[in-house]
Amino acid sequence: MVLGRRLVPVGLRFPVSTPQRSLVDKSCAPLVDHVILGFGICGESMNDQLIVVTGGGGFIGGHLVAALRKQGCKKIRSIDIKPIEEWYQHFDDVENLSLDLNVQPNCERAAEGAYEIWNLAANMGGMGFIENNKALCMLSVLINTLMLQAAQKFGVSKFFYSSSACVYNGDKQRDPDCPGLKEEDAYPALAEDGYGWEKLFSERMCRHFREDFGLHTRVARFHNVYGPHGTWDGGREKAPAAICRKVIQAKLSGTREIEIWGSGHQTRSFMYIDDCLNGMRMIMDSEIVDPINLGSAEMVSINQLVDIVEGIAGVKLIRKHKLDAPLGVNGRNSDNALIKKYLGWEPNIPLRTGLEQTYAWIYDEYVGRERRASAGSPG
Ligand code: NAD
Repeated sequence: MVLGRRLVPVGLRFPVSTPQRSLVDKSCAPLVDHVILGFGICGESMNDQLIVVTGGGGFIGGHLVAALRKQGCKKIRSIDIKPIEEWYQHFDDVENLSLDLNVQPNCERAAEGAYEIWNLAANMGGMGFIENNKALCMLSVLINTLMLQAAQKFGVSKFFYSSSACVYNGDKQRDPDCPGLKEEDAYPALAEDGYGWEKLFSERMCRHFREDFGLHTRVARFHNVYGPHGTWDGGREKAPAAICRKVIQAKLSGTREIEIWGSGHQTRSFMYIDDCLNGMRMIMDSEIVDPINLGSAEMVSINQLVDIVEGIAGVKLIRKHKLDAPLGVNGRNSDNALIKKYLGWEPNIPLRTGLEQTYAWIYDEYVGRERRASAGSPG
């Protein structure tokens, strides 16, 4: 295991005719204890710059803050609308602010003095959430717009926006054998209603701030990120966490049954959090100015995802398919030709490896919650 390996992929130039050398050291050992392999978030000279993470109380934001600290960044400001005690991860040596970024003065408070802003704050969740909360998802447009304005006002050097595969045209995702969505497949626009349209609009807002005001904006389209320290219950959880929880529940209760949304033939790809963080850093430091896929190309059906989690848990369950559940598109996968061309890298942590980490974390959370409930203590 190599800890703290420093990669500083600054200054890539695009387009390139031959693939860039891989920026992730593939000789590193497999994941252990969720250590971020090769996450070169801070070069030596950047350690004293202020790095701002919005949505720092959430899943990806919490991991990003943890990785920044590990890499030696000394000045980090993390902002989330949730009270700090509800954040998935928070650290005493970080400036933690509980602020609503739908409000301009709060965005300015967040951005002031920043060298880099990673804008991850948004209303989001799995299909069950985004299909039933379209207005709330669209309102995230306020956060990105106001954060861009604040970044411009304070002369921030770099701005990252987390877009989504939900921007892609629905007509290209009807087939479960989806060949992989290319960046150009976002147009003509027919994004996921609500959440996807907001992401597409905000992508364009980033582009125009870059073109018109010279702000260094970078945009990645995340495809289903998963890992420990994220939502696993309560309605906003996504498929990998939901399936881990259901398998754990069935195993511990002895019911031996699992409810699956839809036929289970719908396909997706899932990217482990460490790959996401590595990709974010490389995209931020690159000259890739247009939105680019950041996702795994290891496509599986939901039934195959259940197979893997059952294998990890050592159980085989009876499947009950809930056919009227919110499903989203039939097939979605990430086409990684562009990221491979530009970075000589693509997310590569096998789904099984990442799910083992995720399952173990959710298992501990689940059992801890059960214990607290049976002891009669809250939370
Ligand atoms: P998350 O819900 O865990 O984190 C988002 C955080 O933003 C939450 O903690 C939430 O409280 C905060 N937030 C919401 N409104 C806010 C406001 N008004 N002011 C301040 N904070 C606010 O989600 P995540 O999985 O960590 O996602 C991070 C980003 O990546 C989001 O923009 C999301 O849309 C995007 N994304 C994630 C995935 C994924 O699979 N996780 C896929 C595509 C895109």
